[in-house]
Amino acid sequence: MNRAFNFSAGPAVLPLEVLEESREAVFNYNNTGMSIMEMSHRSKDYDALFKEAQADCLKIMGLSQDEYYVLFLGGGASLQFLMIPFNFLKTQADYISTGVWAKKAIKEAKWVGKTNIVGSSEDANFNYIPDTFNFTPDADYVHITTNNTIYGTEWKNNIPDTGNIPLFADMSSDMFAMHRDWSKYDLIYAGAQKNIGPAGVTMVVIKKSLLDKKKENVPTMLDYKIHVDNESLYNTPPCFPVYVVGRTFKWILKHGLDSIQANNEKKAGLLYDYMDANADFYKPTVKNVRDRSLMNVCWNLQTPELEAKFIADAKAKYNMTNLKGHRSVGGVRASIYNACPNEWVEALVKFMGEFMKENK
Ligand SMILES: *Cc1c(COP(=O)(O)O)cnc(C)c1O
Repeated sequence: MNRAFNFSAGPAVLPLEVLEESREAVFNYNNTGMSIMEMSHRSKDYDALFKEAQADCLKIMGLSQDEYYVLFLGGGASLQFLMIPFNFLKTQADYISTGVWAKKAIKEAKWVGKTNIVGSSEDANFNYIPDTFNFTPDADYVHITTNNTIYGTEWKNNIPDTGNIPLFADMSSDMFAMHRDWSKYDLIYAGAQKNIGPAGVTMVVIKKSLLDKKKENVPTMLDYKIHVDNESLYNTPPCFPVYVVGRTFKWILKHGLDSIQANNEKKAGLLYDYMDANADFYKPTVKNVRDRSLMNVCWNLQTPELEAKFIADAKAKYNMTNLKGHRSVGGVRASIYNACPNEWVEALVKFMGEFMKENK
């Protein structure tokens, strides 16, 4: 098959071998004579793969099943914006505002209670990660967004120390892009469709002890404890997406997070280094090297017309797709998630050289 160079921000590229395994499972899962989509979510076969996906997730993170629980839920990362405050915002919560998704999380928290913005980069159109915060000593939790998909900024190992305040993170667009000290977090969530699978499932990793702090009277489907008590099968889970996420976890385990992170650094480095060396033509929107995302690389050219030509030429010449920046910021964006092969980025850099020569 001739794969397109797909730089989509999400739903996004998946490992080819995961697609091949999924194709097989769609017709005949594990020689059961049934499609993965035709099986009861309470059957022995399905239950085994579901539990394995949960276990593999914690294995990648080096967390113990005694301390943490993995949920696979519907509703996207966007529903987590609301579930979190419904369960845990009792008096007030601290949020760091680093982009559109962070702001959407803040908007939902406001339905529930007092929401403090304790750090923000909105003053510079979110093109950096802030580093001074005034945490509220008795805040119920602090919420951050580790990778800002639209602006191309990312928290690396500079995650703030929140002391005794539980730390929650939206990792939708850089889940398993790099090593993190996962044990620092009380709750991590990620819509699968950026870096770990197809759309339709959201992974939530929750510290079991956090459930003791849950509010009373949470509506059933929004209640983390009900989902945990029912082993993430309170209702029918997104069966097929969970299968694909499980295969992606196997792929991560096979390669190891070390090598995945090293590859991500290499790929992003190719693009940023090339642009820094040709800064009169290609202008990365994030200037601070520390804050540059490994997953979403954003840049501008001299004019919007030249950007449109760049995007059109890349498509016409090499079938490079989805390079258009998010509609709210414009410019060019290459999303180069874990499954994006190094060769795709090398091809993109080569095209950038050709385009500059022709249009400078
Ligand atoms: C895409 C994205 C979301 C929204 O995810 P949905 O699954 O569409 O609700 C939330 N946060 C971040 C950081 C994202 O990149």
